[in-house]
Amino acid sequence: MLFTPRSKTRPFHLGPFPYEALPRDEAVVAAEVARPFPDVEDRGDAPAGPLGAAARRYRDLFDGFREEEPAPTLAPLPPDTTRRAVEIKGGAYFLDAAGVGICRIPETAWSAGSALAGHTHAIVVPVEHGRVPEPDNPAHGWVAPAVREVGEMRAAEIAICLARHIRMMGLAASAHFAGSGMIDIKRLAVLAGLALREGEGIVNPFLGNRFSLAAVSTAYALATDLPLAAGARGKARSFAYWRGIGGAVSGRERRRRAKRAAHLGPYPMEGVRRVARPTTLILDDEVPRVPKRAAFFERALKGDLGEKSRRERARFALKHPFAWAMGGPIRAMVPLQDRAVAEVETAGLDDPATNARALKTLSYFLGADVTGICEVPRYAWLSHQADGTEIVPKHRYAVVMLIDQGFETMEGASGDDWISGAQSMRAYMRGAEIAGIMADCLRDLGVPARPQTNTDSDVLHIPLVLWAGLGEMSRIGELVLNPFLGPRSKSVVMTTDMPLAVDPPIDFGLQVFCSRCFKCARECPCDAIPLGPKVMFNGYETWKPDVERCARYRLTNAKGSACGRCMKTCPINKMVTADSALLPRLGNWLGIHAQWLKPILVPIATRLDDLLGFGRRVAGKKWWFDHEVVDGVTVVPRGVNSREIDPGCSVDPARQKLAIYPAAAMPAPDAEEPRPVDRKAALAATAELETPDEARARKNAGGAAPAHYTPTPPRTRRPASQ
Ligand code: SF4
Ligand code: SF4
Repeated sequence: MLFTPRSKTRPFHLGPFPYEALPRDEAVVAAEVARPFPDVEDRGDAPAGPLGAAARRYRDLFDGFREEEPAPTLAPLPPDTTRRAVEIKGGAYFLDAAGVGICRIPETAWSAGSALAGHTHAIVVPVEHGRVPEPDNPAHGWVAPAVREVGEMRAAEIAICLARHIRMMGLAASAHFAGSGMIDIKRLAVLAGLALREGEGIVNPFLGNRFSLAAVSTAYALATDLPLAAGARGKARSFAYWRGIGGAVSGRERRRRAKRAAHLGPYPMEGVRRVARPTTLILDDEVPRVPKRAAFFERALKGDLGEKSRRERARFALKHPFAWAMGGPIRAMVPLQDRAVAEVETAGLDDPATNARALKTLSYFLGADVTGICEVPRYAWLSHQADGTEIVPKHRYAVVMLIDQGFETMEGASGDDWISGAQSMRAYMRGAEIAGIMADCLRDLGVPARPQTNTDSDVLHIPLVLWAGLGEMSRIGELVLNPFLGPRSKSVVMTTDMPLAVDPPIDFGLQVFCSRCFKCARECPCDAIPLGPKVMFNGYETWKPDVERCARYRLTNAKGSACGRCMKTCPINKMVTADSALLPRLGNWLGIHAQWLKPILVPIATRLDDLLGFGRRVAGKKWWFDHEVVDGVTVVPRGVNSREIDPGCSVDPARQKLAIYPAAAMPAPDAEEPRPVDRKAALAATAELETPDEARARKNAGGAAPAHYTPTPPRTRRPASQ
């Protein structure tokens, strides 16, 4: 426990609760099979309150993915049903299930006439109910009546993703949610070793009755679990559970989280030093607004990076069947982003501090990892839609949320192998769901709000993450790094006109750390991260990466899906909880609170990080299959990136040639046709960049912004209303 947490050796597919330590009883099977099919549960009519209504809307959306045709060809699957079960269970835990069990489906578990031919096995998933906030918390009235509705929505989300994943592997699978009336999910939960009968209902040994269920019926043959024995509930809260022995999340850590005020979330961000402005210079009046057309993934779509990148753009992050499974729900959520606002505004929503506390509480209840609030600066609004129409800034505030990409899954990966795209998709899906439901609630209360998601955003997230006090700019470049999540997060934003108290930016000394650490740059497979100092780019002080090179690598990575290797290998990519080993906890504390020590500690810390092998792949954390979706079927890919860290690699800024594309080198916002990148000009453009000191001196002397800050104008100027 000095260097390595117990969780390091816990196989990921065992999940955060020690189900494996509970007694089992095969005799329960016969009793469950003999039970009559239950009466269909009366679930009441309308969902309770604006949160319940929003969650129901999203659950109904997921309902559209319950059944689809499987892919026409069977994936190359291992014959070992235990290995198959590891993959399925890993997928469920990756999506934050609070357990997963597998059983055979007895005929009696189907309602009369509804059995699906060939569906022999069930995968059952409980989702833990979110915590009800304190009675005096302003979100209490939204959350308390909607707990079950939100739990069922989240269980439905997991079940449709598992079912879609299996179908993409060529096998029949259907998702079933609570109250569907087709299959007895509670009986399946007992058979799959997740619940015990108690009175008229069922209980989970760790969650009591605070959970919602969903299931997947499938023709996929999987190793099954045995039902729990009668004494399992008493054994669940053992000494080993409280200490986290076996590597599961300890009862201590759960109690620590439950004791925190609901609006503060799981991480002690309130202890991080606050400052008036971000720790990197931003020339507020010089930063240009940029069009969606300038983003490199948009450029790839339009053909600016050549035919191969254009072709791969639609699939690069969805090449793995698990990522593909999430792609459908992600796209389906987009139309909900612009739902109408109720005409009458609810009274009593005018106190900024109360509103901020309520929205932060709601964000954590829905699953955000870190949340902050800021005003939206002019330059965070993108200037033009992808079709060239102007974007008119409309909301004053942004609620900015970070979603962890999954520490343990990242531990098992190289960062650029086949699960990388799925890590992004998981965070995008969860983020779209959280911001979407939050915005839906506000609009039903008559408050203007819009989720700004990865799929459809009118704002740039990076300046908002900075201004909302969630992190500092890192050497990775276009990435704001949080002191607790490190770099492994995705952001989602909800913009709104609800009056909100804002959070100041933070300073945890990252500029000193990244100035002396080069690990991400050393480990980047395509040398896209600068080894040199920060520069001024479009009015921001930043380590400017070669975004074209990074985008090309992610788009055309032949031995993996997308890339997040810089995040994986960063020394600040740790999971710091009460269960963490002493060294990462000490390092995290010193990193945040002992900034004066940083110049001495950083070289030691980064060296130690390498020596202890952080950034290597961790055996037991890899749950997925190395599979690729090609032309609608799942196949074995041509190769798998299996990189390990390379401490001996030279870090010589002089050898590095990075290209930059400032605002003046962007395509016009309405350029439909390909505008091939001019890499030669982009390499030369680095010479024009100011240092932060030069930019300050110029500003102080009254000098004008550099010409390359001026964006390429539209080719046909359209009025904003079009
Ligand atoms: Fe390099 Fe991959 Fe990070 Fe891009 S995402 S900067 S290619 S490590
Ligand atoms: Fe900063 Fe080092 Fe992490 Fe890169 S790897 S972001 S330099 S701390």
